[in-house]
Amino acid sequence: MSEHRMRRVVIAGGGTAGWMAAAAIARTLGRTVDVTLVESDAIGTIGVGESTIPPLVNYNRLLGINEAEFMAATQATFKLGILFDNWKEQGDRYFHSFGITGKDHWSAGFQHFWLHARARGLAGPYGDYCLELVAALREKFAHLPDDRMNYSYQLDSGLYAQFLRKMAEGDGTRRIEGKIARVELNGESGDIAALALESGERIEGDLFIDCTGFRAVLIEGALHAGFEDWTHWLPCDSAIAIQTESVAPPVPYTRVIAHDSGWRWRIPLQHRVGNGIVYSSRYLDKDAAHQRLMGEIEGKTVTEPNFLRFVTGVRRKQWHRNCVAIGLSGGFTEPLESTSIHLIQRAVLRLIRMMPLREISERDIAEFNEQQETDAVQIRDFLVLHYKVTDRRDSPFWRHCQSMEIPDSLAQKIELFRETGRVFRKNDELFAENSWVQVMMGQGITPRAWHPIAEKLRDDELAKLMTTISDQVKHTVATLPAHGDYVAQYCGAARAAAA
Ligand code: FAD
Repeated sequence: MSEHRMRRVVIAGGGTAGWMAAAAIARTLGRTVDVTLVESDAIGTIGVGESTIPPLVNYNRLLGINEAEFMAATQATFKLGILFDNWKEQGDRYFHSFGITGKDHWSAGFQHFWLHARARGLAGPYGDYCLELVAALREKFAHLPDDRMNYSYQLDSGLYAQFLRKMAEGDGTRRIEGKIARVELNGESGDIAALALESGERIEGDLFIDCTGFRAVLIEGALHAGFEDWTHWLPCDSAIAIQTESVAPPVPYTRVIAHDSGWRWRIPLQHRVGNGIVYSSRYLDKDAAHQRLMGEIEGKTVTEPNFLRFVTGVRRKQWHRNCVAIGLSGGFTEPLESTSIHLIQRAVLRLIRMMPLREISERDIAEFNEQQETDAVQIRDFLVLHYKVTDRRDSPFWRHCQSMEIPDSLAQKIELFRETGRVFRKNDELFAENSWVQVMMGQGITPRAWHPIAEKLRDDELAKLMTTISDQVKHTVATLPAHGDYVAQYCGAARAAAA
């Protein structure tokens, strides 16, 4: 057996992806590998990515991060889901919440009972049966015993990277500031041998992690791993981000508001609000998008607008030779459901699970790439759903979305739900049944049938089931404090302790 150990891990890029990778690898494998991170202050980071989803809570716990300290350091607020305005049609709104709606039976999800109850006039709106949703709309929050409240964070991505940097450096990560001028390949194997910086410094490594964002300096620039373009399914290709002062206490949810050529976001943090417009440049030009964003934001701006272009899609091989692409270098499926930071987390944990002891195994590479692809494709389908299923026909953009071809996997999911009310979660899919049901119904699909087990209940039993659940939700929400007060108290204590 070869004596060559996998010792030197080199991370190129210090955005959210680079520091999430460095912090986790240094903390988990610190004594067995040396971690070096190269980042360029002159290039900087993308400067967006503020809304996250619940698995991040576990990522932070896994790294032993104190939540209150983390939230104080990143000016974070809690997030219970996303409020969608104007997606099904103008003036309509629905909420995609974290957590679970109602109570499932092993044979059939709660939606089957709710659909039957609604047909019998015995049920209120679907959202009345979800704790996180009702709490979000009442702007309330607290941690509940047994993690009964599912939540995530809205955070300042720059501060999150700084927080992780401190942690990673504390665990031994070496940071080098400088611009990568060249990626040197090993003439025999074709693997990456070293990163040559503009300063003349040369950084050799055994495993390279490309976190250089859309530039994809290593995985594409040097190794030409290829890119699968998904623009025909996810047509937005541009965004403008801008930050504003808060004009009201922060709400525990992100807002995504559709417009005639895309959508815009509003993400409330403790100290400010993140705003942005996402659009298809085929249907809206940059100046008009900018004007629209500026006309719709609330509060004084605190930054200059950040104009961004992107191509939706995925790197064909996310692990190629001795290089793994994590973050935007690995692909981007657009920010509507806040999935990018989650994909970083999944890739980092997956890589740690598959960290080679000596030589890199082609089997590990194949397994990693297959699992990454499954994640990306499932998330892609969930995102495409929002564009495809809509009653909006009021602009060329929406008419395009409504008439576009969609992946077979998504078409099957939509039609199955439409005909039977059934949804199945496959292969550890990120978005569980509750997410699919909320978004499919929110976008306008009403199933034509429900599971026969729902009809086993007499009307009085069905009514009691519905009332019991909604009463429990109302009762719990009534005991919760206002979200803004809870955040101030929770993070205030951490700030005071740090001072
Ligand atoms: P970057 O932040 O671009 O970092 C790249 C790093 O590489 C930088 O440090 C840079 O200096 C370095 N670098 C590049 N080239 C070189 C070189 N030659 N030499 C040295 N260093 C180099 N995600 C979410 O989860 N939630 C959201 O709400 C969300 N909103 C988004 C909105 C928009 C409009 C967009 C475009 C993305 C959004 N994302 C969101 C995605 C999120 O921003 C990214 O996943 C996240 O910031 C990670 O980016 P990154 O670290 O891969 O890249």
